[in-house]
Amino acid sequence: MKTVIKIGTSTLAHTGGRLNIRRTEELCKVISDLKNSGNEIIIVTSGAIGMGTGKLGLKERPADMATKQAAAAVGQCELMYVYDKLFSEYNHTVAQILVTASDFNHDDRHRNFSVTLSRLLDLGVIPIINENDTIATEEIGIGDNDTLAAMVATSAGADLLILLSDVEGLYSADPRKDPNAKLIEEIRVIDDSVMKLGGGSGSSLGTGGMRTKLSAAKICTEAGCDMIIADGSDPSVLYTIADGGKAGTRFYGKKTL
Ligand code: GLU
Repeated sequence: MKTVIKIGTSTLAHTGGRLNIRRTEELCKVISDLKNSGNEIIIVTSGAIGMGTGKLGLKERPADMATKQAAAAVGQCELMYVYDKLFSEYNHTVAQILVTASDFNHDDRHRNFSVTLSRLLDLGVIPIINENDTIATEEIGIGDNDTLAAMVATSAGADLLILLSDVEGLYSADPRKDPNAKLIEEIRVIDDSVMKLGGGSGSSLGTGGMRTKLSAAKICTEAGCDMIIADGSDPSVLYTIADGGKAGTRFYGKKTL
């Protein structure tokens, strides 16, 4: 099984942007175990800007583009240092890939990306992908890692994309405002009524919200890949999913219908 796991900033870092050590350690341990059991794993990670914000001691996520990009450049090093260190403890090798939207729109570059990705998987490596925030401004970039993860999943021909977030899944209404909001366990058709359930962005450090997750689900399912939105606060949710259990919201790809 080829699985893309997208790890959001709110899963990796505390609210101030400093690394959530307990969670990240647990996450790398579970992912290593899933890899040991024969799964091919690709990670799409956020957290560069968030971690750079913490490391530079800034009070909050910067608003201006230059500082955001500077924070991403600092945070990306920290992020890869942490992944490299934690996955090494379980004898896994990681590789960093940074991409921009134009890489996906450019045939040669897209082909090079796919060839390298598949070679890395053949070599038993865990590729870790983020947007190249130094190059891509919000106006010209992919902008959010939910969409990036969906593009990676389709381009890699993955079976499943798991978006780990700080929400349990898609709800019938905003659970922060409506006590009667119910978790929707399965979505087979993403129509306008489903798209309307996407609100604004959730946390103060990341950029994605439910809207970007639903757009990602559209991209994935159209290409025949299933997608699950699950709460990353307990990394063992990945075992539940691998064992075929219910977790969060599952969007069925067209080929599984
Ligand atoms: N590339 C951004 C970062 O690493 C994250 C974008 C997102 O959170 O969706 O901080």
